Amino acid sequence: MVAELDPAPTKIVCVGKNYVEHARELGGEPPAEPLFFLKPPSALISDGEAILLPPGAGQVHYEGEVTFQVGKRASHVSESEALDYLSSVLPLNDVTARDMQNLDNQWTRAKGFDTFCAVGSPVPLDGIDIRDLRVETRVNGELRQDGQFSDVVFGIEILVSYISRVMTLEPGDLIATGTPSGVGSLVPSDVVEVNIPGVGAVRNPVQAGLGQAWPYGARGARD
Ligand code: MG
Repeated sequence: MVAELDPAPTKIVCVGKNYVEHARELGGEPPAEPLFFLKPPSALISDGEAILLPPGAGQVHYEGEVTFQVGKRASHVSESEALDYLSSVLPLNDVTARDMQNLDNQWTRAKGFDTFCAVGSPVPLDGIDIRDLRVETRVNGELRQDGQFSDVVFGIEILVSYISRVMTLEPGDLIATGTPSGVGSLVPSDVVEVNIPGVGAVRNPVQAGLGQAWPYGARGARD
């Protein structure tokens, strides 16, 4: 349970390839429709908690993302009323086992490890101009990502409406809106920070995880 999130999310909905330059750095183009997946709430950690690298998982990347928390139940919401269903904004690190993501036909394992969803404290949307939001990611103080939220392919109104036609969004649920270009690997002893200027940051040390290395989990993965 992450203390900052009240109510706790029943699900974390993440949007993939929602910035053109990030889609291209992964070797593709943005999808024609929003592409989304779920991270389990068991992956959540707070500011200051360690991101644990699974032994033998290969490359693990940071992904800094502007993220919104749902304020009231949303089902089949129109784009014009979508913002009424959001309560707050927060920084989120959608940590990703990149080699596993490339190997698997879906992303549940690569995105779902414990500690792979670092979140900062939500800030109420009242008085915040969504069009002005930016997200920055720093590793050991060095700027790696600097994305203007207005550059997303699918804006938050479209995402809320689209997702709510598939699954009911409950109060507390999170919608992570995708990462800008500049993703890269994390290694033990790194410190990674995702910051939304004017909102807040989440900063986490990176450590080697415990346990047995994946025996066949990241076939051909690079360490
Ligand atoms: Mg992401």
